[in-house]
Amino acid sequence: MAASAGGQPLKEVGRLVTSGPSYANSLRQKKSNIKRLPLKPISYLHGEPQVIWEVEEVNQMIVNENLEYAVIGSFRLLSNKHVLIRATLLEDYVHLLSKPAFYITQNNWSFPMRTLKWDPMFNPEEETTITIAWISFPSLPPNFFWRRGCFFTCNGGRVKVEVDLLNDFPKRIKIEMRMNNEEIMEKWIKIKYDYVPKYCQTCMIQGHNEEQCFVVHPELYPKEKVGQAKGRRTERSAKNPIARKTDVMEP
Ligand SMILES: [Zn+2]
Repeated sequence: MAASAGGQPLKEVGRLVTSGPSYANSLRQKKSNIKRLPLKPISYLHGEPQVIWEVEEVNQMIVNENLEYAVIGSFRLLSNKHVLIRATLLEDYVHLLSKPAFYITQNNWSFPMRTLKWDPMFNPEEETTITIAWISFPSLPPNFFWRRGCFFTCNGGRVKVEVDLLNDFPKRIKIEMRMNNEEIMEKWIKIKYDYVPKYCQTCMIQGHNEEQCFVVHPELYPKEKVGQAKGRRTERSAKNPIARKTDVMEP
């Protein structure tokens, strides 16, 4: 989604998420889209082996391996374990990414799982800055609310967009109506963000920002937890989100 604020053009900060194909169509398309890829030779750079892939080939691998709608499930309470979830439909992919947390229950224990966008360069040590945000338009005229309308796929006036947490989000969007005499009427609509996780560039994780970070601000660490963790706390556990206030763990 592109929008502008203050009359100045803003760089694109979000991508509108729209409905995908039917399940049957997606399966049919997937079968015909699978292509074999050639084996790659190994070359050497300064004595170290390397394999170079073209971006088109990597995109083809993603199709072949059914990873177009892949999502990472992150279990921070289990020593930062990750699982790969291969969604088949765009709707499932969007649903997985647009909830703050899922709770997986096993043996009467409930484990919070956060979801992250997967990409081919996924690094378990650094969470992606991309997420799905719910936005709404409190002052949008009702005629623009129709489902699959001119520019929104609405659900009760709310829309899901893909955003980069390190970018500034647009505060408003302009809608225009061209009259028969070519005159253009315009109206600015305020954009309201329902839930957007924070991002910490020190810990490289979603859930808190630098102002709330115990690594940047150790004085913020709850005093009652210091005693509990005494003797067990290492430099690594100082970065362990178990002992950190996150968006997920907040009530
Ligand atoms: Zn942090």
